[in-house]
Amino acid sequence: MRKLTEKKILVATHNAGKLDEIRAMMAPHGIEVTSAGEMGLPEPAETEDSFIGNARIKACAAMQATGLPVLADDSGITVDGLGGAPGVYTADWAETPNGRDFMQAMTRTWNELDAKGTPEPRTAQFRATLILMWPDGHEEIFEGVAPGRLTWPPRGAQGHGYDPIFIPQGYDVTFAEMTPDEKNRISHRADAFRKLEAAFA
Ligand code: IMP
Repeated sequence: MRKLTEKKILVATHNAGKLDEIRAMMAPHGIEVTSAGEMGLPEPAETEDSFIGNARIKACAAMQATGLPVLADDSGITVDGLGGAPGVYTADWAETPNGRDFMQAMTRTWNELDAKGTPEPRTAQFRATLILMWPDGHEEIFEGVAPGRLTWPPRGAQGHGYDPIFIPQGYDVTFAEMTPDEKNRISHRADAFRKLEAAFA
């Protein structure tokens, strides 16, 4: 695996929360972090049908615009009974004319499982893919996963997205019933970040 020896990277995100999280992780390694959002870069369309493909689109766009090594990510939930859907369309299932509605997305997920007669446990995985891309085009990929099962009705007020219907493996509570610290210890993103840390020089 190629090690990151550069002391400045760009994170291909417009999400301030993700940026803070990544900045905090890089700080002990003396790596300065800027972001696509802070540099006013446009958000490219995510047109691929895999997490890796979409993370690569974001990484390439930001790398070509700045010449810096770039870290990009893509994430979502895959439901076994739905053949891996919504997958890369996780956020799309929440789209409405008035913005994102995750209750709509969770309801659709559960209803499609009902329509197929999928037995419980209805297993699913949150997935996070990170790509580290260098200006010469070399890339390293880190994939994180949080396995679990879905439950209905939604429970809990913490978290975001599909958290209220996802019970991680080995627990009885949903991601939305956990404190952010608890969730962040076992999440798909934490898993991917732990693997990424192995790339630091
Ligand atoms: P993106 O990687 O920021 O494009 O996120 C894709 C979508 O995946 C988000 O809009 C969320 O709906 C979903 N998602 C990713 N991570 C989580 C999570 O930890 N909890 C709930 N939903 C998530």
